[in-house]
Amino acid sequence: MRRLVNVTIDAQLGDIYVCGLILGLGIITMKSVFAPAKEAGMQFIPSETLEIDRKMRANKPFYDLDLRPADLRTCDFEDVVIEFSEERATVEAARCIHCPDPAPCMLACPTNNDIPSAMWLIEHGQFSEAANLYHAHSSLPEICGRVCPHEALCQGSCVLNKHQTPVLCGALETFTVDYKRRHEGRAIPLALPTGKRVAIIGAGPAGLGCADQLVQCGHAVTIFESKPAPGGLLVYGIPNFKLPKDVWMEKWQEFENAGVKFVGNTYIGKDKTIDDLFEEGFDAVFIGVGSEIDAKMEDTPGTDLAGVYEATDFLVRGNVDPSLLPASSYKPLEIGKRVAVIGGGDTASDCLRTALRLGADEVTCLYRRTEKEMPGGKKDRKFARDEGAKYRFLTQPVKFIAGADGKLAAVECIEMKLGEPDAKGRRKPVPVQDSNFSVACDTAVLALGYWPDPIIGKTTPGLETHDWGLITADKRSGATSRPGVFSGGDCVTGPDLVVTAMVAGRKAASAIHEYLKNK
Ligand SMILES: Cc1cc2nc3c(=O)[nH]c(=O)nc-3n(C[C@H](O)[C@H](O)[C@H](O)COP(=O)(O)OP(=O)(O)OC[C@H]3O[C@@H](n4cnc5c(N)ncnc54)[C@H](O)[C@@H]3O)c2cc1C
Ligand code: SF4
Repeated sequence: MRRLVNVTIDAQLGDIYVCGLILGLGIITMKSVFAPAKEAGMQFIPSETLEIDRKMRANKPFYDLDLRPADLRTCDFEDVVIEFSEERATVEAARCIHCPDPAPCMLACPTNNDIPSAMWLIEHGQFSEAANLYHAHSSLPEICGRVCPHEALCQGSCVLNKHQTPVLCGALETFTVDYKRRHEGRAIPLALPTGKRVAIIGAGPAGLGCADQLVQCGHAVTIFESKPAPGGLLVYGIPNFKLPKDVWMEKWQEFENAGVKFVGNTYIGKDKTIDDLFEEGFDAVFIGVGSEIDAKMEDTPGTDLAGVYEATDFLVRGNVDPSLLPASSYKPLEIGKRVAVIGGGDTASDCLRTALRLGADEVTCLYRRTEKEMPGGKKDRKFARDEGAKYRFLTQPVKFIAGADGKLAAVECIEMKLGEPDAKGRRKPVPVQDSNFSVACDTAVLALGYWPDPIIGKTTPGLETHDWGLITADKRSGATSRPGVFSGGDCVTGPDLVVTAMVAGRKAASAIHEYLKNK
């Protein structure tokens, strides 16, 4: 028999719904409910306790997300997706067929969000309670719901994919967490102060995931960041039309309210070192500096011409409010009417879409393999196409050509064909002899990928690094070769995702907590 009971456990987390399985436990504390279910990776509302008709649910009609029309959205940098209404959210959540535990969507989500339980709560109008479930698993649910490549993670593993369209887990996560913030506000639950101090280097998703968990254990956290504002690539990379900056600003307020101290414009390795931080009295250090150095087009003449930009510089100057710009990016961005973007990842899609919003008439992506090999997500590519971007595949730029005014006028390219697979099984692009042609353009953006910044490794004795500066750290704990120093996110894995970086920060926080207990 299924019975839902409403148990008020903790004023900060509000009402929590538990099901028959844990009835009769007597006093239910936060720890006894959340922690074991979470540790065991179990669903909070086990599917076997629900009396539902899975077939009927699987055949319910699907209504896709509403988007702003492409011709309107290229006129501004506002969000592309129109948020769910309460009614739409309940209808969409009711399509979940509640797979037996463990549900594939939970397993595919890097933070193991309890999606089926959240769907049940949303279906029954319990939006804040669903938000509590997301907050219990994730430090940035309002961000991940928006920017995760859902088609490759939670939604990609939904069993409805076999015959239907998957449940829109990401949009529902965004809806519930936004709902809670607007209607009730949210505070990070804090423990009594331990007197221990942790320095975090880098205010991106990894550093934030770590800070969120450490303050919940009672440790004092200071984040040192080289940029003027916190957020990492959430601010200085991902454009506003994918992640509105006010969503991030509201989130940052939550961290500030929890006492997380932010020290901007401080480049660790130049302004001070990790040894200096220990000397200042910090008990442990977490490094979450990302992997943000733009890859160059070595040996290609003309990359220094006016009109040729690196992706980060282009995105930051094109998207970020001037008050948040680092001094190196103050110069206004000048773009022409014909823009070529070189590369095939998500950054390339973001550059194409930014160029269209900055007023370019013709925006073309040049990529040396075919669409099948493109590393970027399909969803962003579809948005870019709908907004007017064009793609030229099997095309490799070999020279950037200046016009009479000395500025970029064209890109000379060579046609490519796919050759033998490389070590990773990806077919190598091979130039076709004498196939050179030129593409007229006045702006080119190089979106070729990112490398780590080796400075932390070079200035921290005993800290092991590899492959041009990636930090060597244990996958589970983030422990590095230097006692008391932990690391996670893109600076350990190379460029990856917001959600994976945030999870790495959370895992390291739990190892730091253990380390501090024994210190
Ligand atoms: C254009 C672009 C679009 C993207 N879009 C998506 C997307 O849609 N979805 C998704 O999931 N992922 C996306 N990503 C990837 C995602 O943003 C990253 O994987 C994620 O931000 C990594 O988090 P992190 O905390 O490891 O590093 P970062 O976000 O890079 O943060 C590192 C921080 O450390 C600071 N820092 C660096 N060196 C120092 C130093 N020496 N001292 C002090 N501070 C330092 C940096 O300024 C930065 O603020 C995108 C990336 C880019 C570039
Ligand atoms: S964190 Fe990302 S993968 Fe996990 S449920 Fe949310 S949107 Fe899906």
